[in-house]
Amino acid sequence: MRYVDEFQDPELAARLLDDIRATVTRPWALMEVCGGQTHTIIRHGIDQLLPDEVELIHGPGCPVCVTPLEVIDKALEIASRPEVIFCSFGDMLRVPGTGRDLFQVRGEGGDVRVVYSPLDALRIAEDNPDREVVFFGIGFETTAPPNAMTVYQARKRGVRNFSLLVSHVRVPPAIEAIMQSPDCRVQGFLAAGHVCSVMGTAEYPRLAERFHVPIVVTGFEPLDILEGVRRTVRQLERGEHTVDNAYPRAVRAEGNPAARAMLDDVFEVTDRAWRGIGVIPESGWRLSARYRDHDAEHRFQVGDISTREPAECRSGEVLQGLLKPHECEAFGTTCTPRTPLGATMVSSEGACAAYFLYRRLDLPARPDAATGRTPATSTTAPDPTAAVTTPSLEDSSVV
Ligand code: SF4
Repeated sequence: MRYVDEFQDPELAARLLDDIRATVTRPWALMEVCGGQTHTIIRHGIDQLLPDEVELIHGPGCPVCVTPLEVIDKALEIASRPEVIFCSFGDMLRVPGTGRDLFQVRGEGGDVRVVYSPLDALRIAEDNPDREVVFFGIGFETTAPPNAMTVYQARKRGVRNFSLLVSHVRVPPAIEAIMQSPDCRVQGFLAAGHVCSVMGTAEYPRLAERFHVPIVVTGFEPLDILEGVRRTVRQLERGEHTVDNAYPRAVRAEGNPAARAMLDDVFEVTDRAWRGIGVIPESGWRLSARYRDHDAEHRFQVGDISTREPAECRSGEVLQGLLKPHECEAFGTTCTPRTPLGATMVSSEGACAAYFLYRRLDLPARPDAATGRTPATSTTAPDPTAAVTTPSLEDSSVV
């Protein structure tokens, strides 16, 4: 399959690994921003194939994972109302809120439906003019444009019974927050290629300059990841910190102007809470005043619901790259994909789910005392291009 098979070529993977081994002279810690990249890395064992000097730290780029508990509770409250048809991507249905999830709301009689596009929800609203139809709009710069387009269409077509529960977040402020953390060990970033395909790369040079970190726009196949690592390590070894696009088949510097124009029209930047991390200034979007009539939070008066995150789940540390999933005491015991304590175990892009699905259960649980690094070895040698059947966590997923 073009653009997939050719980016899983074993010989090219071996050559890229050789190049990285020949380049690296000292330890470097790189963060892959996106949960999709994390899954590629864990699925193909890329972190185990890299030289010991290169550590990959998993970042906060899983949209389901960073959606705060209080937004889940708002969704549960709205979905419980008899007049509501609550539509969502499948990933969100098992994310635990306080005491229950959307599946349980459905089991109790709530009309909760899995859809594959926000436009499906708009169609449901047109077909059910006597019901209130709400779409759960979460995610990064990747899911925000179609959700913006759906609200734009709802307003244009006069579909007044459609609204959006919005919890959209933006990557650059998260990078800024990570770099400002006193515990931050990140020295370079593999930026999320799909985010940059929408937003372009203009937001990144100031971050690279301010924090002296290379930022390499990276794709999602094994060779994409290896090339991103290769370019990042090369910059670090040379003492450089520039923005580099290693995903030119999808990303242009200006991004997607039509999608950005839609975002600018429908949304406005706002402060957003990130699950387990807290509020990051200007890190999200909300509907702009023109579209406030389609804001579910406003329509259903759930703005004042606030919830405390459960103490036993350490997903906040996982999302900031401060903890590897298997280092959480609950991992694989009280917390599994069937009995998740946190969203990072539920989501098909969550780091905890990746470690569980790809059997990273036998890794040493604590960093090596001498080096301070977590050994990334397992009992079986991985193949970076092995064909692996990805277990599906849910019916559909947020990208
Ligand atoms: S393993 Fe479970 S409890 Fe631990 S951080 Fe991950 S989701 Fe939270």
